[in-house]
Amino acid sequence: MSQAIPDFTVQKTATPKPKPDPNTLKFGQTFTDHMFIMEYSDERGWHDGRVVPYAPLSLDPAAAVLHYGQEMFEGLKAYRAPDGRVLLFRPYMNAERARRSNERMCMPELDVELFVGAVRALVDIERDWIPEKEGTSLYIRPFMFADEAFLGVHAAHHYKFIIICSPVGPYYDAPGGGIHPTGIYVTRDYVRAAPGGTGFAKVGGNYAGSLKAQTEAAARGCEQVLWLDAVERRYVEEIGTSNAFFVINGTVITAPLHGTILPGITRDSVIQLLKSWGIPVAERRLTIDEVFTAGKDGRLSEIFATGTAAVISPVGRLVSSDETLSIGNERVGELAQRLYDALYGIQTGKLPDDRGWTLTV
Ligand SMILES: *Cc1c(COP(=O)(O)O)cnc(C)c1O
Repeated sequence: MSQAIPDFTVQKTATPKPKPDPNTLKFGQTFTDHMFIMEYSDERGWHDGRVVPYAPLSLDPAAAVLHYGQEMFEGLKAYRAPDGRVLLFRPYMNAERARRSNERMCMPELDVELFVGAVRALVDIERDWIPEKEGTSLYIRPFMFADEAFLGVHAAHHYKFIIICSPVGPYYDAPGGGIHPTGIYVTRDYVRAAPGGTGFAKVGGNYAGSLKAQTEAAARGCEQVLWLDAVERRYVEEIGTSNAFFVINGTVITAPLHGTILPGITRDSVIQLLKSWGIPVAERRLTIDEVFTAGKDGRLSEIFATGTAAVISPVGRLVSSDETLSIGNERVGELAQRLYDALYGIQTGKLPDDRGWTLTV
Protein backbone atom coordinates (compact mmCIF):
# COMPACT_ATOMS: atom_id res chain seq x y z
CA MET A 1 0.00 0.00 0.00
CA SER A 2 1.29 3.46 -0.82
CA GLN A 3 -0.34 6.87 -0.76
CA ALA A 4 0.37 10.60 -0.66
CA ILE A 5 2.19 12.01 2.36
CA PRO A 6 0.49 15.07 3.94
CA ASP A 7 2.12 18.37 3.19
CA PHE A 8 3.89 19.51 6.36
CA THR A 9 6.35 22.40 6.51
CA VAL A 10 9.90 21.08 6.32
CA GLN A 11 12.95 22.85 7.64
CA LYS A 12 16.09 20.88 6.81
CA THR A 13 19.12 20.86 9.07
CA ALA A 14 22.16 22.86 7.95
CA THR A 15 24.45 20.54 9.92
CA PRO A 16 23.70 16.88 9.19
CA LYS A 17 25.25 14.46 11.67
CA PRO A 18 27.50 11.56 10.66
CA LYS A 19 25.65 8.24 10.47
CA PRO A 20 26.62 5.69 13.16
CA ASP A 21 28.55 2.51 12.36
CA PRO A 22 25.85 -0.15 11.67
CA ASN A 23 28.07 -2.84 13.25
CA THR A 24 28.05 -1.31 16.72
CA LEU A 25 24.49 0.07 16.85
CA LYS A 26 22.79 -0.30 20.21
CA PHE A 27 19.15 0.38 21.04
CA GLY A 28 17.98 3.99 21.14
CA GLN A 29 21.24 5.83 21.69
CA THR A 30 21.62 7.94 18.56
CA PHE A 31 18.97 10.10 16.94
CA THR A 32 18.50 11.30 13.39
CA ASP A 33 18.79 14.83 11.96
CA HIS A 34 15.12 15.82 12.15
CA MET A 35 11.97 15.49 14.24
CA PHE A 36 8.27 16.06 13.65
CA ILE A 37 6.46 18.43 15.98
CA MET A 38 2.86 19.62 16.21
CA GLU A 39 0.95 21.66 18.79
CA TYR A 40 -2.53 21.40 20.25
CA SER A 41 -4.68 24.01 21.88
CA ASP A 42 -8.37 23.82 22.67
CA GLU A 43 -9.00 26.85 20.44
CA ARG A 44 -7.06 25.67 17.37
CA GLY A 45 -6.99 21.88 17.69
CA TRP A 46 -3.86 20.25 16.22
CA HIS A 47 -1.86 22.79 14.23
CA ASP A 48 1.58 23.77 12.92
CA GLY A 49 2.69 20.23 12.04
CA ARG A 50 6.28 20.54 10.83
CA VAL A 51 9.54 18.67 10.31
CA VAL A 52 12.42 20.58 11.89
CA PRO A 53 16.06 19.89 12.84
CA TYR A 54 16.38 17.55 15.87
CA ALA A 55 16.99 19.76 18.90
CA PRO A 56 16.33 20.03 22.65
CA LEU A 57 12.91 21.36 23.67
CA SER A 58 12.25 24.40 25.74
CA LEU A 59 9.59 23.70 28.40
CA ASP A 60 8.06 25.78 31.14
CA PRO A 61 9.12 24.22 34.48
CA ALA A 62 5.42 24.11 35.39
CA ALA A 63 4.55 22.04 32.27
CA ALA A 64 1.93 19.55 33.46
CA VAL A 65 3.77 16.50 32.09
CA LEU A 66 6.70 17.13 34.45
CA HIS A 67 4.44 16.99 37.51
CA TYR A 68 1.55 14.65 36.83
CA GLY A 69 2.83 12.61 33.90
CA GLN A 70 0.09 13.27 31.37
CA GLU A 71 1.76 11.67 28.36
CA MET A 72 1.68 8.68 26.01
CA PHE A 73 4.02 7.16 23.45
CA GLU A 74 4.20 4.68 20.60
CA GLY A 75 6.95 2.60 19.02
CA LEU A 76 7.31 1.21 15.51
CA LYS A 77 10.07 0.49 13.02
CA ALA A 78 11.01 1.28 9.43
CA TYR A 79 13.04 -1.25 7.45
CA ARG A 80 14.74 -1.08 4.10
CA ALA A 81 13.67 -3.88 1.74
CA PRO A 82 16.19 -5.58 -0.58
CA ASP A 83 14.61 -3.66 -3.52
CA GLY A 84 15.29 -0.34 -1.76
CA ARG A 85 11.71 0.36 -0.61
CA VAL A 86 11.23 1.73 2.91
CA LEU A 87 8.63 -0.29 4.83
CA LEU A 88 6.61 0.50 7.96
CA PHE A 89 5.03 -2.43 9.81
CA ARG A 90 1.27 -2.04 10.51
CA PRO A 91 1.50 1.69 11.40
CA TYR A 92 -2.29 2.08 11.49
CA MET A 93 -2.33 -0.28 14.48
CA ASN A 94 -0.03 2.15 16.30
CA ALA A 95 -2.27 5.06 15.32
CA GLU A 96 -5.36 3.26 16.64
CA ARG A 97 -3.62 2.28 19.87
CA ALA A 98 -2.43 5.88 20.31
CA ARG A 99 -6.07 6.97 20.16
CA ARG A 100 -6.98 4.54 22.95
CA SER A 101 -4.02 5.69 25.08
CA ASN A 102 -4.99 9.33 24.50
CA GLU A 103 -8.56 8.64 25.48
CA ARG A 104 -7.46 6.96 28.72
CA MET A 105 -5.12 9.85 29.56
CA CYS A 106 -7.71 12.56 28.71
CA MET A 107 -5.51 13.82 25.89
CA PRO A 108 -6.85 15.17 22.58
CA GLU A 109 -7.72 12.81 19.76
CA LEU A 110 -5.23 12.51 16.94
CA ASP A 111 -6.63 11.43 13.59
CA VAL A 112 -5.10 8.14 12.40
CA GLU A 113 -4.27 9.57 8.95
CA LEU A 114 -2.54 12.52 10.59
CA PHE A 115 -0.54 10.15 12.84
CA VAL A 116 0.54 7.86 9.99
CA GLY A 117 1.10 10.84 7.65
CA ALA A 118 3.42 12.49 10.17
CA VAL A 119 5.41 9.26 10.62
CA ARG A 120 5.76 8.92 6.86
CA ALA A 121 6.74 12.57 6.36
CA LEU A 122 9.56 12.21 8.88
CA VAL A 123 10.76 8.78 7.72
CA ASP A 124 10.73 10.02 4.12
CA ILE A 125 13.24 12.72 5.05
CA GLU A 126 15.33 10.38 7.20
CA ARG A 127 15.43 7.47 4.74
CA ASP A 128 19.23 7.62 4.51
CA TRP A 129 19.32 6.91 8.26
CA ILE A 130 17.74 3.46 7.90
CA PRO A 131 20.53 0.97 8.45
CA GLU A 132 20.60 -2.09 6.20
CA LYS A 133 22.60 -4.59 8.19
CA GLU A 134 20.71 -7.74 9.36
CA GLY A 135 18.98 -7.06 12.68
CA THR A 136 19.08 -3.27 12.37
CA SER A 137 16.24 -0.84 11.64
CA LEU A 138 15.03 2.69 12.22
CA TYR A 139 13.06 2.84 15.47
CA ILE A 140 10.33 5.49 15.40
CA ARG A 141 9.07 7.05 18.63
CA PRO A 142 5.90 9.16 18.43
CA PHE A 143 4.85 10.70 21.76
CA MET A 144 2.46 13.28 23.15
CA PHE A 145 2.50 15.26 26.38
CA ALA A 146 0.81 18.12 28.23
CA ASP A 147 3.00 21.22 27.98
CA GLU A 148 0.59 23.63 29.62
CA ALA A 149 2.07 25.50 32.59
CA PHE A 150 -0.16 24.97 35.62
CA LEU A 151 -0.03 23.02 38.87
CA GLY A 152 -3.71 22.17 39.29
CA VAL A 153 -4.65 18.55 38.70
CA HIS A 154 -6.88 18.39 35.64
CA ALA A 155 -6.50 17.53 31.97
CA ALA A 156 -4.37 20.16 30.23
CA HIS A 157 -5.48 22.41 27.36
CA HIS A 158 -2.16 22.46 25.49
CA TYR A 159 -0.15 19.51 24.16
CA LYS A 160 2.74 18.66 21.89
CA PHE A 161 2.94 15.67 19.58
CA ILE A 162 6.50 14.81 18.56
CA ILE A 163 8.14 12.04 16.58
CA ILE A 164 11.84 11.21 16.81
CA CYS A 165 13.79 8.41 15.10
CA SER A 166 16.74 6.31 16.16
CA PRO A 167 18.77 3.87 14.05
CA VAL A 168 18.91 0.72 16.18
CA GLY A 169 20.68 -2.60 16.43
CA PRO A 170 19.37 -5.67 18.28
CA TYR A 171 17.57 -4.93 21.57
CA TYR A 172 19.65 -7.48 23.46
CA ASP A 173 23.37 -7.86 22.87
CA ALA A 174 23.14 -11.31 21.28
CA PRO A 175 26.31 -12.82 19.90
CA GLY A 176 26.00 -12.50 16.11
CA GLY A 177 22.73 -10.51 16.27
CA GLY A 178 19.46 -12.43 15.83
CA ILE A 179 17.72 -13.74 18.92
CA HIS A 180 19.04 -15.37 22.08
CA PRO A 181 17.42 -16.79 25.22
CA THR A 182 16.91 -14.46 28.17
CA GLY A 183 16.39 -14.97 31.90
CA ILE A 184 13.09 -13.83 33.43
CA TYR A 185 12.46 -13.11 37.10
CA VAL A 186 8.96 -13.68 38.54
CA THR A 187 8.29 -10.68 40.73
CA ARG A 188 5.86 -11.20 43.62
CA ASP A 189 6.43 -7.87 45.31
CA TYR A 190 5.52 -5.46 42.52
CA VAL A 191 2.72 -5.22 39.97
CA ARG A 192 2.60 -3.44 36.62
CA ALA A 193 -1.09 -2.89 36.03
CA ALA A 194 -4.33 -3.24 38.00
CA PRO A 195 -7.90 -3.57 36.69
CA GLY A 196 -9.23 -0.08 35.99
CA GLY A 197 -5.70 1.31 35.70
CA THR A 198 -3.63 2.20 32.66
CA GLY A 199 -2.15 -1.20 31.74
CA PHE A 200 -3.66 -1.27 28.25
CA ALA A 201 -2.36 2.23 27.43
CA LYS A 202 1.20 2.91 26.33
CA VAL A 203 2.11 5.57 28.88
CA GLY A 204 5.31 6.57 30.64
CA GLY A 205 3.88 6.12 34.13
CA ASN A 206 3.57 2.36 33.59
CA TYR A 207 7.26 2.27 32.78
CA ALA A 208 8.37 4.50 35.66
CA GLY A 209 6.49 2.23 38.05
CA SER A 210 8.16 -0.88 36.62
CA LEU A 211 11.79 0.17 37.10
CA LYS A 212 11.99 -1.05 40.68
CA ALA A 213 11.07 -4.61 39.72
CA GLN A 214 13.44 -4.42 36.77
CA THR A 215 16.27 -3.59 39.19
CA GLU A 216 15.30 -6.59 41.28
CA ALA A 217 15.39 -8.81 38.14
CA ALA A 218 18.82 -7.51 37.18
CA ALA A 219 20.11 -8.26 40.70
CA ARG A 220 19.02 -11.90 40.08
CA GLY A 221 20.93 -11.99 36.80
CA CYS A 222 17.77 -11.71 34.69
CA GLU A 223 17.03 -9.42 31.75
CA GLN A 224 13.32 -8.94 32.41
CA VAL A 225 10.51 -9.33 34.91
CA LEU A 226 7.52 -11.64 34.59
CA TRP A 227 4.51 -9.69 35.85
CA LEU A 228 1.68 -11.42 37.67
CA ASP A 229 -1.86 -10.02 37.93
CA ALA A 230 -2.38 -7.38 40.60
CA VAL A 231 -5.41 -8.94 42.31
CA GLU A 232 -4.49 -12.57 42.99
CA ARG A 233 -0.79 -12.43 42.13
CA ARG A 234 -1.16 -15.76 40.33
CA TYR A 235 -1.87 -15.16 36.66
CA VAL A 236 0.96 -14.43 34.24
CA GLU A 237 0.50 -11.14 32.39
CA GLU A 238 3.51 -9.66 30.58
CA ILE A 239 7.29 -9.99 30.40
CA GLY A 240 8.94 -6.62 31.05
CA THR A 241 7.51 -4.37 28.36
CA SER A 242 6.56 -7.23 26.05
CA ASN A 243 3.67 -9.64 25.71
CA ALA A 244 4.27 -13.17 27.00
CA PHE A 245 3.61 -16.52 25.28
CA PHE A 246 3.84 -20.00 26.84
CA VAL A 247 3.84 -23.21 24.79
CA ILE A 248 2.28 -26.01 26.86
CA ASN A 249 1.33 -29.38 25.32
CA GLY A 250 1.73 -27.81 21.88
CA THR A 251 -0.81 -25.02 22.57
CA VAL A 252 0.44 -21.45 22.57
CA ILE A 253 -1.07 -19.56 25.51
CA THR A 254 -1.10 -15.80 26.08
CA ALA A 255 -3.01 -13.55 28.48
CA PRO A 256 -6.34 -12.18 27.21
CA LEU A 257 -6.75 -8.42 26.59
CA HIS A 258 -8.88 -7.57 29.60
CA GLY A 259 -7.48 -4.14 30.41
CA THR A 260 -4.20 -4.89 32.21
CA ILE A 261 -2.38 -6.16 29.11
CA LEU A 262 -0.87 -3.88 26.47
CA PRO A 263 -2.36 -4.94 23.11
CA GLY A 264 0.91 -5.52 21.28
CA ILE A 265 1.01 -5.33 17.51
CA THR A 266 3.63 -8.08 17.51
CA ARG A 267 1.30 -10.10 19.79
CA ASP A 268 -1.55 -9.74 17.29
CA SER A 269 0.73 -10.62 14.36
CA VAL A 270 2.07 -13.71 16.17
CA ILE A 271 -1.45 -14.93 16.92
CA GLN A 272 -2.47 -14.48 13.27
CA LEU A 273 0.63 -16.30 12.00
CA LEU A 274 0.20 -19.22 14.43
CA LYS A 275 -3.47 -19.63 13.47
CA SER A 276 -2.57 -19.60 9.77
CA TRP A 277 -0.03 -22.37 10.46
CA GLY A 278 -2.70 -24.47 12.18
CA ILE A 279 -1.01 -24.20 15.59
CA PRO A 280 -3.51 -23.99 18.49
CA VAL A 281 -3.53 -20.62 20.27
CA ALA A 282 -5.39 -19.87 23.49
CA GLU A 283 -5.95 -16.37 24.85
CA ARG A 284 -6.65 -17.40 28.42
CA ARG A 285 -5.54 -16.83 31.97
CA LEU A 286 -2.65 -19.03 33.04
CA THR A 287 -1.30 -19.33 36.58
CA ILE A 288 2.40 -19.21 37.41
CA ASP A 289 1.94 -22.55 39.21
CA GLU A 290 0.66 -24.12 36.00
CA VAL A 291 3.77 -22.81 34.21
CA PHE A 292 6.20 -24.24 36.80
CA THR A 293 4.32 -27.56 36.97
CA ALA A 294 4.28 -27.91 33.17
CA GLY A 295 7.98 -27.05 33.17
CA LYS A 296 8.81 -29.80 35.66
CA ASP A 297 6.61 -32.34 33.80
CA GLY A 298 8.28 -31.59 30.49
CA ARG A 299 5.07 -30.19 28.96
CA LEU A 300 6.36 -26.61 28.71
CA SER A 301 8.40 -26.47 25.53
CA GLU A 302 8.90 -22.70 25.10
CA ILE A 303 8.32 -19.28 26.58
CA PHE A 304 8.86 -16.16 24.49
CA ALA A 305 8.14 -12.45 24.67
CA THR A 306 6.96 -10.30 21.76
CA GLY A 307 7.35 -6.59 21.03
CA THR A 308 8.51 -4.17 18.38
CA ALA A 309 11.95 -3.61 19.90
CA ALA A 310 13.15 -7.24 20.07
CA VAL A 311 10.42 -8.79 17.80
CA ILE A 312 10.60 -12.27 19.41
CA SER A 313 12.63 -12.83 22.54
CA PRO A 314 12.92 -16.45 23.72
CA VAL A 315 13.13 -17.18 27.45
CA GLY A 316 15.77 -19.69 28.56
CA ARG A 317 15.32 -19.45 32.31
CA LEU A 318 12.41 -18.68 34.58
CA VAL A 319 13.58 -17.63 38.03
CA SER A 320 11.44 -17.14 41.12
CA SER A 321 12.45 -16.50 44.73
CA ASP A 322 12.60 -20.26 45.45
CA GLU A 323 13.16 -22.07 42.15
CA THR A 324 14.73 -21.82 38.71
CA LEU A 325 13.31 -23.50 35.66
CA SER A 326 15.42 -24.13 32.61
CA ILE A 327 13.35 -24.05 29.41
CA GLY A 328 14.17 -25.96 26.22
CA ASN A 329 17.79 -26.55 27.30
CA GLU A 330 18.17 -22.76 27.24
CA ARG A 331 18.30 -22.77 23.47
CA VAL A 332 16.18 -20.73 21.07
CA GLY A 333 12.86 -22.61 20.70
CA GLU A 334 11.67 -23.91 17.35
CA LEU A 335 8.49 -21.85 17.35
CA ALA A 336 10.23 -18.67 18.53
CA GLN A 337 12.73 -19.02 15.69
CA ARG A 338 10.02 -19.77 13.11
CA LEU A 339 7.96 -16.76 14.23
CA TYR A 340 11.00 -14.49 14.24
CA ASP A 341 11.99 -15.56 10.72
CA ALA A 342 8.44 -15.11 9.39
CA LEU A 343 7.83 -11.72 11.03
CA TYR A 344 11.25 -10.30 10.37
CA GLY A 345 11.02 -11.56 6.79
CA ILE A 346 7.73 -9.74 6.22
CA GLN A 347 8.90 -6.59 8.02
CA THR A 348 12.03 -6.33 5.90
CA GLY A 349 10.30 -7.20 2.61
CA LYS A 350 12.30 -10.42 2.22
CA LEU A 351 9.16 -12.56 2.42
CA PRO A 352 5.85 -11.89 0.63
CA ASP A 353 3.40 -9.76 2.60
CA ASP A 354 0.11 -11.56 1.92
CA ARG A 355 -1.75 -9.73 4.68
CA GLY A 356 -0.92 -6.17 3.61
CA TRP A 357 0.94 -5.53 6.87
CA THR A 358 3.63 -3.29 5.41
CA LEU A 359 3.18 0.28 4.18
CA THR A 360 5.70 1.72 1.72
CA VAL A 361 6.94 5.21 2.58
C1 LIG B 1 4.84 -1.66 23.66
C2 LIG B 1 4.52 -2.75 24.61
C3 LIG B 1 4.34 -4.08 24.20
C4 LIG B 1 4.59 -4.55 22.81
O1 LIG B 1 3.77 -3.94 21.84
P1 LIG B 1 4.21 -4.00 20.31
O2 LIG B 1 3.14 -3.24 19.63
O3 LIG B 1 4.26 -5.43 19.93
O4 LIG B 1 5.54 -3.34 20.23
C5 LIG B 1 3.98 -5.02 25.16
N1 LIG B 1 3.83 -4.67 26.45
C6 LIG B 1 4.00 -3.41 26.90
C7 LIG B 1 3.82 -3.10 28.32
C8 LIG B 1 4.37 -2.40 25.99
O5 LIG B 1 4.54 -1.15 26.43
